Amino acid sequence: MDSASSRAARHRTCAACRFQRRKCKPNCIFAAFFPADKKQIFENAHRLYDVRNMEKMVEHLDPEQRAEAMKTIIYESEVHAADPIGGCRRIIGKLETELQLACAELDHVRRELEASRGRAQAMVGAEMLAPPIGAAEPEARCFLLTPLP
Ligand SMILES: [Zn+2]
Repeated sequence: MDSASSRAARHRTCAACRFQRRKCKPNCIFAAFFPADKKQIFENAHRLYDVRNMEKMVEHLDPEQRAEAMKTIIYESEVHAADPIGGCRRIIGKLETELQLACAELDHVRRELEASRGRAQAMVGAEMLAPPIGAAEPEARCFLLTPLP
């Protein structure tokens, strides 16, 4: 088998081209992400974005950016299929809550550490210990992201 015919044998019509009833060319931008045996993944993405919108979103991107964009589209559409009401927004909300809790815990630990250093300085003498955390790392305060509206 020559290389052209073996390539043709390996290249099956992807789920996106099959849906659009068009020939799936070797350079099809969807073939790597919506193979023929992953029809449900395509259907979820198409339901959320529509195949023509997906094409417009990724056709001008370089291959690396296109792969990231398609992975993001597929992830979001899978989450939306599993949770149509909450979707990714529910996941983002959970992560924001976890971030707020982690920042609060970090601030608490820093305050405890500074208090411990203060007590240790009083017992040992100020010259032998490191400066307080706030003085050594002025930008080290935990920041909170602005929650989604
Ligand atoms: Zn295709």
